[in-house]
Amino acid sequence: MRDLINGDFLSNLWLVGFLALAAGSLIVAITSGYLKARKCQPKGFKWKQFRFEAVIAVVSVAFSGVVIGGAQTWLKKNGYMTFQHEPASWYVVLFEYALYFFSFDTWFYWLHRWMHNEPYYKWIHKLHHRSTSPNLLTTLSVHPFESFINGGWMVIFMTLYSVHDASVALIGGTNIVMGLYVHSGYEFFPKWWNKTWLSKWFITATFHDHHHKYFTANFGGYTTIWDRICGTVHKNFERDFVTIKQRPLRQQVSAEAVPAE
Ligand SMILES: [Zn+2]
Ligand SMILES: [Zn+2]
Repeated sequence: MRDLINGDFLSNLWLVGFLALAAGSLIVAITSGYLKARKCQPKGFKWKQFRFEAVIAVVSVAFSGVVIGGAQTWLKKNGYMTFQHEPASWYVVLFEYALYFFSFDTWFYWLHRWMHNEPYYKWIHKLHHRSTSPNLLTTLSVHPFESFINGGWMVIFMTLYSVHDASVALIGGTNIVMGLYVHSGYEFFPKWWNKTWLSKWFITATFHDHHHKYFTANFGGYTTIWDRICGTVHKNFERDFVTIKQRPLRQQVSAEAVPAE
């Protein structure tokens, strides 16, 4: 188990992500009612876009496996990336996790905004923005350079800071789950999410869905902190979030059940 977390777990992160993606897609395909009502853009899914994303995802995963996975293996082999194997207190794990979480968020926000400037946008980021209504596969539909932005910080962070095994598992899991969640195209978070003083600082699927829909707002990766500081939160975000959460679950079914007059 220890070896799994230390070595193979990290190296296989992208594989795990891919499997999670497949499982997630299956769930999306077989569930109804709730998902229908909570779709951020109800008519957004297009097979043509999905096929394009599948091709780019294969290239992006291959690149990540070779370049990011290779760099990670080299750094570990040469002693630049080390891990602390002894058990850690919960507050140490929390500290390491928070350090990664907020440093990634800062790294991502500013590099993401940079990628929205020409000519970098057309060279790199435009590929990801071909998806105007994201689905799980959109997570991996990125230019190889962008997959470095998404996954590279984890490698740099763990090289700069020797984290405990428990933190490795949390950080790796967050990287995969957050990527998939914000691109899911469905809003799972509760209606009050953007109303409380604490939860409103963390992004939701609608937040990133709006980034794909409107392009020029909501750049954050994990939090809304930088967007709120820089005034880049989309003006419709909170209103649309509530609208999605208030859609009745059986809207379509009850409409069909009413006999035609
Ligand atoms: Zn973008
Ligand atoms: Zn995206």
